[in-house]
Amino acid sequence: MRITVLAGGIGAARFLRGLLAAAPEATITVIGNTADDITLSGLRVCPDLDSVMYTLGGGSNEEQGWGRAGESFRIRDELAAYGAGPSWFALGDLDFATHILRSQLLAEGRPLSEVTRILCDRWQPGIRLLPMSDDRVETQVKIDSGLIHFQEWWVRLHAAVPAEAIIPVGADAAAPGPGVLEAIAEADFVLFPPSNPVVSIGPILAVPGIRAAVEAKTVVGVSGIIGGAPVRGMADACLTAIGVETTAAAVAAHYGAGLIDGWLIDEQDKAAVEKALDDDPALFGIAVRALPLYMRDVPSSAAIAQAAIDLAKELTP
Ligand code: GDP
Ligand code: CA
Repeated sequence: MRITVLAGGIGAARFLRGLLAAAPEATITVIGNTADDITLSGLRVCPDLDSVMYTLGGGSNEEQGWGRAGESFRIRDELAAYGAGPSWFALGDLDFATHILRSQLLAEGRPLSEVTRILCDRWQPGIRLLPMSDDRVETQVKIDSGLIHFQEWWVRLHAAVPAEAIIPVGADAAAPGPGVLEAIAEADFVLFPPSNPVVSIGPILAVPGIRAAVEAKTVVGVSGIIGGAPVRGMADACLTAIGVETTAAAVAAHYGAGLIDGWLIDEQDKAAVEKALDDDPALFGIAVRALPLYMRDVPSSAAIAQAAIDLAKELTP
């Protein structure tokens, strides 16, 4: 079985851990969002690729969901003693090593896809991790004072300043990374984890060629909205910015029946989604299944992944 997954950070990493447990024999390719990437202290940081790599490689900070386990912050404190930042984006000492090596390899002229493969040689995440593109794509958020990097809005401003628009800058001119279109075309089906639809899945689909390749496949998505609220985090601020309600039905309609064939929702949202299925033409043709969607641990995540596989198989012609 060949499964290709589009992925953001934490929500994707937890889902993928369940997918590996549910389908240990499957060949899994993960297409990672790189539009969150940022240069800090002169180093290239790829938060979503690293969340997937560390979590599946057994090196992540479990409670936090990002960064390394057993982390210390001596470098940050030394930088602060120089009055240097970034004060708002926490990079630990162990994490710094990843960014130093990545930046060194990029400076040698290697593309991000190759650099990611080198980093994954150490972590052995059990999946093939492909950046969505080797070209720079950067999510920028339009607030009243102008455009800022997504991380500045999300981490420094806690998404508390209203966003007028969220734009994947550079996506139009980006090419899919090596192997990305092939991994989609060759997959038995494509899965969307409960990743943020606007800033995690959105930028991947904005790279020319990727959306059309995904549309040609059977696609099953998992709702990141449970009981009308994002689980862990502030995804509602992103949905509001693009005029989408924070409900499981509205996110499915945002993806649309042309893109997704199946949609997993939490049991809490069953009545509301069933009502929307009768009313909203954007949902016509999407097969919906309800089950507990909270990813508490590996078994609960594996049950969600298994349900996604079962529905994808059922919907594959
Ligand atoms: P990020 O890049 O680190 O923000 O991570 P992702 O974009 O991959 O995923 C973040 C999203 O995952 C959040 O907006 C939540 O909606 C969703 N999420 C987090 N934990 C859970 C969970 O336990 N269950 C479900 N269904 N969704 C979750
Ligand atoms: Ca992210």
